Amino acid sequence: MSQITDLEELVATLPHDARALFDRFYRLELATGTLKIPAEMVPWVNARFGAIERVEAQRIVSIKNRFTGEHSLFNQLRTERPIEARSPVHLTELDEKEHCLFCRPETSTPTDAFGRITGNYCVTAGNIAKYDALHSLVIFKEHNPLIIQKEWLADYLSTAERWFEAVVRYHSGPALHKFFLWNCLWRGGASIIHGHMQLMAASERYGRLAALEAAIGTYDRSFNGDYLADLIAVHEHVGLARQEGRETILCYLTPVKEKELVIVSSAARSEEMAETLYAVLQRYLKLGVQSFNLAIFQLDGRHIVRLVDRGSLADRNSDIGAMELYAATVIASDPFKLADAIMQY
Ligand SMILES: [Zn+2]
Repeated sequence: MSQITDLEELVATLPHDARALFDRFYRLELATGTLKIPAEMVPWVNARFGAIERVEAQRIVSIKNRFTGEHSLFNQLRTERPIEARSPVHLTELDEKEHCLFCRPETSTPTDAFGRITGNYCVTAGNIAKYDALHSLVIFKEHNPLIIQKEWLADYLSTAERWFEAVVRYHSGPALHKFFLWNCLWRGGASIIHGHMQLMAASERYGRLAALEAAIGTYDRSFNGDYLADLIAVHEHVGLARQEGRETILCYLTPVKEKELVIVSSAARSEEMAETLYAVLQRYLKLGVQSFNLAIFQLDGRHIVRLVDRGSLADRNSDIGAMELYAATVIASDPFKLADAIMQY
C-alpha cells in the first residue's frame, strides 16, 4: 500500500513519459520539520503519536498544481492515521421534523417566477435569500440528508436539470452556466438540516471556475493537449483513479480539504451520473463522513463533480482557517488511503 510520503519514490519508478507528465503538472517537495520535546512531554507525545522521533522530525509533503495553483500540504503525523470505516452517524437532531419548513415546501418556501418543478422525490423552490440572481433549491422529500437512495438521487439530479432547462427558457440574455451544489449539514455550511441541493445558473463563469477554465485553455494550447484527460492520466499512473461507467473518480492529489474526490464524466446530463454518485456517497458515508460539500458543473465539454468531507458534526472548531482561505490547504487524509477505502469495491 502506497502512502503520500512514498509519492516521490513512486513517481521515480514510473516510465519516462508518465514521470514527465507528473512533473509537468505538479511541483512535489518533501521537507522535514524539526522540534525538540521536553522530557515532561515525552509520555504524552508517546501516547498521542506513538514515537517521539516521528514528532521531532515531521515529514511534510507539499504538492502544487503548476497550472491551477492548487496546493496541498500533507503532514505524515496526520496522514498516517488510518481511514477507518465507522458506523453510520445517528443523531436524533437529524430526525426532528416538527419545525422544519422544508417538510412543508408548498406552504413554507417561495416558488420561482415560473413555478415549481416537481420530481417523484423532490420539488424545487425559490431561494428566499439568493446567492445570485438565478438561485433555487431542490428540496428532498426525505428530511434526513444522510438517508440517500439511488432512485432518489437520480430524481434530484433530473429535477435539477429540468429546473435549469426552465430557467434557460425563461431567461432572455447570454448563455447560462449551471452550477449545482449540495451542502450537507452544518459543517458543510447548510443552515437547514432537511436535505436539499442548490441550483444556480450564471451568465458569467464564477471566478474560481473562470480561473480553472483559463488554466485549462493555457495548458491545451501550450501542450496541444487535453488538460482533463492528462490530469486523469497522472492520477491513473500513481493508482489514484478509477473508471466507473462514464465517470473517472480521482482521489485528488491537491484536495481542497479532507478526502476530496474529483469526478470527471462524459455524461450529457447530471442524472446520468446518478449511479456513480450514489455509489461514491454510500462509500463516503461508510467512512463515517457526516457532512460534505458536493459541486457539479460543466467545463471543457465534461461534467465535473467535486466532493469533500467537512468533518465531524460534533466538532466545534472549523476545518478551515487562514491557511486554507489565503495560502494552501492543510490535509490530514492521505489520498492513497482514501483510494484503498473508496476504490476497493
Ligand atoms: Zn424536514
